[in-house]
Formats: sequence, C-alpha cells, structure tokens
Amino acid sequence: MSVTIPPDPLTAARQEMVQKQLVARGLKNARVLESMAWVPREDFVPEPYRAQAYEDHPLPIGEGQTISQPYIVAVTLAALELSASNKVLEIGTGSGYQTALLSRLASRVYSIERHEKLAAQARATLERLGYRNVAVYTGDGASGLSQHAPYDAIAVSAAASRIPQALLEQMSEGGRMVIPVGLPEIQELQLVCKVNGKLSTKVLEHCRFVPLVSN
Ligand code: SAH
Repeated sequence: MSVTIPPDPLTAARQEMVQKQLVARGLKNARVLESMAWVPREDFVPEPYRAQAYEDHPLPIGEGQTISQPYIVAVTLAALELSASNKVLEIGTGSGYQTALLSRLASRVYSIERHEKLAAQARATLERLGYRNVAVYTGDGASGLSQHAPYDAIAVSAAASRIPQALLEQMSEGGRMVIPVGLPEIQELQLVCKVNGKLSTKVLEHCRFVPLVSN
C-alpha cells in the first residue's frame, strides 16, 4: 500500500511568494531566491498569523514591532551582494527571519535587538531551527558592534532620520549597508557602498519601517 503525503500548504505558499512577489518584480539573485524559498517564515511569526506568513505585507510580532514584507527583505539581501565568506551586522533582529536568511547567505551574522523579549524569542527560534552562525545581542544597534567590526555588509531594519556615524565607521573597505532613511511615515531604502574609503548612496525603494529607537 502506498501512502501519499499531501503537500504542506505553507511550503506551497512559500514557493508562490518567491514567484509572485520576488521573481515577478524583477529580483534575480539566485542565492537570495533560494534562501527565501527555504526559510520557514511561518516559524518567525506569532501563532495567530501563521497562515498569513507569506502575504505581501508586514505582520505584527509583538512589542509594537513588525516582521518586514518579504519583498523588502529580498531587496535588502540582493543589494548586499553577500558571498559565503562575508561577516554581517544586522540592526533590528525582530523575529529573526532576516537573520536566518543572512545566516544562509554569509559566514557569520551578528544581530542587535533593543527589545529583550524579542531578542530572546529570536534566539530561541534560530537555535531551534539550527542556525548556528548567528549571535543575537540585546542593545542599541545605532552604536553598531565595534568588537567584531569591520563588516562586509550591514542590514538595518529600523528607520533612521540620518545614518548613524558608528555604522559608517564599522563598514569594511568594499562594504555595503542597506538602511531605511527618512521620516517616521515614509523612508528611502538606501544602499551605501564604501569604495577606496569613499561613500556612495543609491536609493533602492520607498519603504515604511518602524523607527530606530536610539538613546
Ligand atoms: N528584520 C526584522 C524586522 C523587525 S522590525 C524582522 O523581519 O522581523 C525592526 C526591529 O528593530 C524591531 O524589533 C525594533 O525593536 C528594533 N529596533 C529599533 N531600534 C533599535 C535599535 N536602536 N537597536 C536595535 N534594534 C532596534
């Protein structure tokens, strides 16, 4: 007798998200698409939102914070042009979803979250799913993490009115940073590159992130 195991509806939803929200909007980076087809976003959202995990918008994760829209995460990851040997700093761990993706795309990920509760939850989820090359710190990410600097890539998931100087200083030569910059209601998702010590900036998208709260 053969038993047919029905396909997991969330796995199907994940594939559909990659096709309809990422590929159809022009995202081509194969490593980013592959990692987004792999990481179970449903494990990073609170239980009542599990069924909505692959919808085309942010979702609440508690403490007044949100898990970013999949498309914005993909744009961020693609712009960072990560290679498997890269060391990455992430500001605003939140649910840990983007942290998991970074973990697959780079060699080492340091992530900072200011809410102790969210940091603890993200640590537990990442640990449970087997993401071993990540370290989640609790603190103010606007100061970066000087003990492990410089970073090949920095991903900031909370909106700043201006780019914190410490983060610019902690970029390596050839380094990339993606950060939402602007007003609380609307920001530009900026890509900052450091080449020969000089910084250049490109606007990737318009976006709306929760604020970077810094003391
Ligand atoms: N990438 C996350 C996004 C979470 S929202 C995800 O996909 O789940 C942004 C997060 O930034 C929030 O959890 C918020 O608490 C955090 N945050 C805001 N200001 C911060 C700061 N100064 N340092 C560290 N984290 C900060």
